[in-house]
Amino acid sequence: MDRKEFFKRLVVDLPLYSTFNTLRDALFNALAVEPRKPMTRDILVGIITDRSYNQTIDDCQTELIRTFVKPEDEYRLYTVSTSCNIDLLYIVNMSATSVPKEGVIDSDKAIAAHQMLIGTVPESGGPRTDYSVICLAEKHELMTPAKYPKIIKHELVHAAINHIAADHSDIREFIRTAKMIRNGLSCIEADDNLPVPVEYEFIELVCNIVPYLSLPVKKENGIDKFMEDAVSVFGYDEDDPLLAEGIAIITEVKQEAESAAE
Ligand SMILES: [Zn+2]
Repeated sequence: MDRKEFFKRLVVDLPLYSTFNTLRDALFNALAVEPRKPMTRDILVGIITDRSYNQTIDDCQTELIRTFVKPEDEYRLYTVSTSCNIDLLYIVNMSATSVPKEGVIDSDKAIAAHQMLIGTVPESGGPRTDYSVICLAEKHELMTPAKYPKIIKHELVHAAINHIAADHSDIREFIRTAKMIRNGLSCIEADDNLPVPVEYEFIELVCNIVPYLSLPVKKENGIDKFMEDAVSVFGYDEDDPLLAEGIAIITEVKQEAESAAE
């Protein structure tokens, strides 16, 4: 499957936009109502203990959290269940200046990271729930107020894609190819000495741009608006050939879908 087919499958055949919209509404509602006060250490420890017992957290997620939240750090966390059967555990480290690799902005120190555990179908036959962990380093030197919500949304698109991929082997295969070369032995550490596959860059672009496309009626959104933010918010190089290629692919899919709908 090539990049165009990957994007078309996700947004035309499969519900990437609506899954992302559900996650965004659920998380941003939680962020609006919860106080922004640091929490005590035992809350995080308790959640990890409970989830380990219930098998709703895996080793990669535990490793991510343990590497990311040091005992002396101040943090807040949000647990959100959503109607699209994705459970979010969102951890904001108020002290950290970076998260372990695999982040959103092109830098050696990432601002955010995401890990998902694909759940199991319950014996009752009900729907499967998947468990997503998102970590954000609030004190990262590249963090700005404009980037903050964009980074959270980027990670939510990763969660939505992984959730959909669990049921679709072609999507899964595309992601596997993209990550295979990039990730070495560790589940959270990407190896910068290895070449970055075009598929990897494309998935990152999709995660950046989907929030601009998922609600087409909003006038502040769209590909043009994303292009205005591409350099200043997302750190793209203006002449990046992969950005131009990716945008051309996404535009093509969007136009084909629109003309098919007419
Ligand atoms: Zn990403």
